[in-house]
Amino acid sequence: MGQPRVNFCFFLFIIRVLISLQSKEHVLLDMKASGSELGWLTSPNENGWEIVQTVVNSSLLYTYSVCNVDSADQDNWVRTTFIQRRPESSRVSVELQFIVRDCNTFGGASVTCKETFNLFISEADADVGTSFRKGQFRKVATIAPDEVTRGRVPKVNTETRTVVPLSKKGFYLAFQDMGACVALLSVRVYYKTCPSTVQSLAAFPETVADALREVEGVCVKNAVSQTTPRIYCTAEGKWVVPVVQCQCLPGYEATENSCQECKPGYFKPSASNEFCQVCPDNTKSSLAGAAECVCEDGFFRSPSDPLTAACSAPPSAPRDLTSTTLSGDGRLLLSWSPPLETGGRSDLTYSVACEICDESQCVACGEKIRFETGPTELKEPGVVVSDLDSHHNYTFTVEAHSGVSQYGTERATATITTTLDYTNPPKVTSIHLDDRGPTSLSLSWTLSRRPPAHISHHYELMYRKKDIEGESDVTTYTVLILDKNSVQINDLTPDTTYLFRVLVKLSPEAMPGSYSKDQPFHTSALAESQTQNKPTLVMGAVVGVAVILLIVVAVLLLRRRSLCSRGRGGPEDPYFSTDQLKPLKAYVDPHTYEDPNIAIQKFVKEIDPNIIRKEKVIGVGEFGEVFRGMMKVPRKGELAVAIKTLKPGYSEKQRQDFLSEASIMGQFSHPNIIRLEGVVTKFKHAMIVTEYMENGALDTYLKEHDTEIPPYQLLGMLRGIAAGMKYLSDMNYVHRDLAARNVLVNSSLECKVSDFGLSRVLEDDAEGTYTTRGGKIPIRWTAPEAIEYRKFTSASDVWSFGIVMWEVMAFGERPYWDMSNHEVMKAINEAFRLPAPMDCPSAIYQLMLQCWQHDRSKRPRFSDIVNILDKLLQSPESLKTIADFDPHVSIRLPSTSGCDTTMFRSVPEWLESIKMSQYNESFARAGITTMDHVLALRPEDIRNIGVRLPGHMKRIAYSILGLKDETSSLSVFAV
Ligand code: AMP
Repeated sequence: MGQPRVNFCFFLFIIRVLISLQSKEHVLLDMKASGSELGWLTSPNENGWEIVQTVVNSSLLYTYSVCNVDSADQDNWVRTTFIQRRPESSRVSVELQFIVRDCNTFGGASVTCKETFNLFISEADADVGTSFRKGQFRKVATIAPDEVTRGRVPKVNTETRTVVPLSKKGFYLAFQDMGACVALLSVRVYYKTCPSTVQSLAAFPETVADALREVEGVCVKNAVSQTTPRIYCTAEGKWVVPVVQCQCLPGYEATENSCQECKPGYFKPSASNEFCQVCPDNTKSSLAGAAECVCEDGFFRSPSDPLTAACSAPPSAPRDLTSTTLSGDGRLLLSWSPPLETGGRSDLTYSVACEICDESQCVACGEKIRFETGPTELKEPGVVVSDLDSHHNYTFTVEAHSGVSQYGTERATATITTTLDYTNPPKVTSIHLDDRGPTSLSLSWTLSRRPPAHISHHYELMYRKKDIEGESDVTTYTVLILDKNSVQINDLTPDTTYLFRVLVKLSPEAMPGSYSKDQPFHTSALAESQTQNKPTLVMGAVVGVAVILLIVVAVLLLRRRSLCSRGRGGPEDPYFSTDQLKPLKAYVDPHTYEDPNIAIQKFVKEIDPNIIRKEKVIGVGEFGEVFRGMMKVPRKGELAVAIKTLKPGYSEKQRQDFLSEASIMGQFSHPNIIRLEGVVTKFKHAMIVTEYMENGALDTYLKEHDTEIPPYQLLGMLRGIAAGMKYLSDMNYVHRDLAARNVLVNSSLECKVSDFGLSRVLEDDAEGTYTTRGGKIPIRWTAPEAIEYRKFTSASDVWSFGIVMWEVMAFGERPYWDMSNHEVMKAINEAFRLPAPMDCPSAIYQLMLQCWQHDRSKRPRFSDIVNILDKLLQSPESLKTIADFDPHVSIRLPSTSGCDTTMFRSVPEWLESIKMSQYNESFARAGITTMDHVLALRPEDIRNIGVRLPGHMKRIAYSILGLKDETSSLSVFAV
């Protein structure tokens, strides 16, 4: 049903882009111009058509006339001479000028009198001379006057008839009178051409106009095009719908219909429709026709700098290099000031090199030391160096780099020599069990760093039996002083747990260290050791039992797998990864605790507010502002975090609702679920601290990076979200508000599911709409059964995931555009679904449709979705087939009120509204100058206009759909 309107619009479009050039006429016969030499045949020879000579403005005019109005059975013919047809034209136009006298002026003769005459044609391959046979003529038209002549003043009529198709070498025309009083003043026969023209830098040849014909052209001198320029010549001899992408070569710019050299001092780097630009800073003035401006001496461009960038100079050396000992444990802060001369660049980075020097020589520090943010590509003028030994002479050299530093004649370096003197001993980070027996344990341990080489050190190991309930034995520690970081302890009690702790001591001037945490190890039972003492006897039996056990386990696993694949519930993944076999603990609804504070204590770590620092507001949530900030982490320095705050004046209920998100989040641990660092509850201003996601909410990120992210990467993001959702569904947690706005993106483009507010559903979501059954629901993201009877399950989360897939593939487009929630529900219930986003791989769209199955048991599970996405990621060629993007299927039905849209007054105004003003010129060049033209555009037209980036095409196409929707009544999302 959309088609007729589109055709109508297209027709309008053709009419309106008619180019001002008029058609050209090639005359084959002109009665006026021929004077008396007409030589036309009349039949009958007498009393029929007669040639009449009249003087008009002192020149002779010949006309044919006949006026036998009072006799019946008139059949008077006059035939032209042979008119040669031009081989290229199969259509001719016949223009007649004539006078017909009103029959009423003849009184009694009006009975036989006529007021029309007939035009005939006969085709022939050769001039047949005077042989004139009426039977060979076919009738073209009955010619009737618009105005008959009554008085003395003649009323001249002009009529034009087109004669098609013609195939022979020539033809005769004949005029038959059957009793009219008529004078034929002029007969003009001609064919039309579209004249040669230059449109948008492409030249098209003169073309005969006999049907709508596509004509190819060539770019003008110094212009090029990726595709052949095309235009249509209409049957009326007019050029329409130019599809031209000729662009002036580098060094040339367009003026009217030609490409001219850039003036001296200007340049144009590529074939484009841009104008020449003034040479950028620090370049030499160019000659005429320059494609680039060469850098001045001492200035350069980096290989990645565009030719439009100014040339820049290498940086000078970093200044004021200093070193500061950070703590007593081998860490040093190197800091410096940026170079005085940055060379006009903003891509300055630093690298730091380290050498250990004594009096005679220096050697590279190598891997022995660690730069916390790496030794190279440093953006900040400072770095923390750790794992340094004391009493070494370290020489650090800091070098400034920029995109052009390789062109510098001197390396921009600053050097400092420093010695670190510290006495803080390293710490024991963990103790390992290497071997055990009924009365012995062999242990070893690892240190936070190497003890300094020049200071001797030893270990103090303390152990005791672990308390048995009711018995306390805290005082009886055994202490061993050891040189090595391993020990075997004998004479222990079988089948008993001992607690061990170790301390590192430096001597002689050591600062006191601290003991590691108590770690428990258990001696083996006696029976176990007896078994071990009879290895050969028991080995066969053990192996046998193990084999049988393995078989039993394998059979059980296989049965379990096939059961799972038949029905819903239980681990569904076909792969036996340990992760999947390990039963996940189920999520505990904090509501089930009478006192919500207990849930918080149980699931969440309390953070000391002094270790966090708010830096900048990055968002606003339901309960208050969200900040980016830093959290001090022991041994790791500072960690970027997001800090959610509770706004002042909250009620106790609001405080509990606010913190309940943390009690939910605190139960999760998965790379695709936002990680909770902890909460601050013990102070007036409660805060929730989570990992910081540099790129913020997914919907905003996608909108801002439209077109920049390739489908493969979008798929990777979706895979992450699906894995997070699989984890949640395995934990029996139903999210209920999965949407791109509730997914966060970090700097590595990893996506993490967030927003676990307990006040769901869904006080804090602007999309939440009260349904007739009460409660707020984000309609466009929610499965029908959840809207209708609040059946929220992992299967309804799968539906929402399908919508997130669509949002991702449509770069943050709003699902169902501007349709109202009511319209969305109606369309979904009538089995309509969102159409494939533009350029969306077919396999991904198919998966979306699966997620939107009305019957929730038919939707894939998150484990299926993860598997499918993994397979797609493993075979990128499966993404090559693109789902149909057919706006005529997905648009709303047109109204019958025509193409008018009053929303935008001009094409530039519309383009500006969708931030696509860069295409103003392209649209104008293609003749798309009114909103009616815009409405008539098809997707392929958009591409032809010169919009090549998929995201831009999509934005323009969707906007056109939106405009069409303005006059629509119902949406059509056909599946
Ligand atoms: P929320 O209250 O969770 O919806 O957060 C409000 C806004 O704060 C989000 O839309 C994000 O823009 C921002 N935000 C929340 N949490 C984080 C985070 N962990 N990292 C970065 N931005 C965040």
